[in-house]
Amino acid sequence: LAEEDRESRPRLMLMGLRRSGKSSIQRVVFHKMSPTETLFLESTSKINKDNIHSFIDFQVWDFPGQMDFFDPTFDTTAIFGEVGALVFVIDSQDDYMEALARLHTTVVAAHRVNPNITFEVFIHKVDGLSEDYKIDTQRDIQQTTMDELSDAGLENVQLAFYLTSIYDHSIFEAFSKVIQKLIPQLPTLENLLNILCANSGIEKAFLFDVISKIYIATDSSPVDSQSYEICSDMIDVIIDISSIYGRAAIGAKSQGYLEDHQDGQDDWTQQQDGHGDYEDTNGGIHQRPGASDMNSQTVVSNSSRAGSLNSVPTQQTSGNHEAFSVIKMGNGTVLYLREVNKYLALICLLKAETFEKQGLIDYNVHCFKEAMDQVFELKRAERTRREMEANQ
Ligand code: GDP
Repeated sequence: LAEEDRESRPRLMLMGLRRSGKSSIQRVVFHKMSPTETLFLESTSKINKDNIHSFIDFQVWDFPGQMDFFDPTFDTTAIFGEVGALVFVIDSQDDYMEALARLHTTVVAAHRVNPNITFEVFIHKVDGLSEDYKIDTQRDIQQTTMDELSDAGLENVQLAFYLTSIYDHSIFEAFSKVIQKLIPQLPTLENLLNILCANSGIEKAFLFDVISKIYIATDSSPVDSQSYEICSDMIDVIIDISSIYGRAAIGAKSQGYLEDHQDGQDDWTQQQDGHGDYEDTNGGIHQRPGASDMNSQTVVSNSSRAGSLNSVPTQQTSGNHEAFSVIKMGNGTVLYLREVNKYLALICLLKAETFEKQGLIDYNVHCFKEAMDQVFELKRAERTRREMEANQ
């Protein structure tokens, strides 16, 4: 990837003790592995710089071994200098005292080098805990960590805590919140999404990083897990269909399944395809177990009633080659997906009545895309200007 491209992406580092679940998180979020397959993963043994074609730049580091802050050759500046967020994973099903000690030394070391880093603690594997026990564990971890930091004179360092599991959407939602803190354009994006929704009768709109299914922005109406899950499942469906039909998607188009572009390296459906991450296609369409549990009523009932899950082929508004799909569900809701750029897709939820004015929606989405281009273009211009000033 071009250096400039890397720079403009939020950079994230995942750390934690061995067996805390880092590789599993990485595989499930960025490689579409199903959670049960992670049981057979070998433990992380080296720094893992994942070259993912995602909006997010992501690295995994392991304890012990890789990080010895007391080793004088250990270059903390190089490691923490460029990082946006440090995610520390704690296995909540295990005795976490050692993990908390590691978290403490890490925060102290990283904060010294880079005070702008955001610290995010994933209290992980909570699928094994009862509701009460979850809350107690979070309280205990939070209290201990903050007390120790304040004893070390670091009471101003902010840490955020999340309860996560790879068996449901909690890991994706936690990442979404983490990433959103790293996007300086977030208020502008939210504002644009609000305008789009208000003017088109759209109920909810998400801007998704397609590869990871993390949403990087949404309009300011409240997020309910159901709408997030159904949108993220839509990405799976679209990618699976394109991976089945691949370049033959024109055939699919004529059958009214999917309109998708066929060429260009920037096509994320093709990119995903090229990664060979589809060992587990399970007949093509599959869901993470957690997702199907929670969604069985909506998704399964819709897809099992033939005819209620039907995509409508629609004209391209811009004439560009871009992924585009519409799914009408049996309950009168329409899911509308359109590719925004090589990493991002916009997914909207709206009522079937509203979708009757599709021309309006297409047009507004087109305007939204243009505005997005400008937002990211401005940022690029700003950076170039700053670099030029620095060089003078
Ligand atoms: P790493 O050494 O930190 O990379 O840890 P791994 O990713 O190898 O995970 C260690 C074990 O934890 C594996 O057997 C995973 O299946 C399991 N694991 C990871 N995430 C979760 C989770 O959310 N819930 C449960 N119950 N187990 C998990």
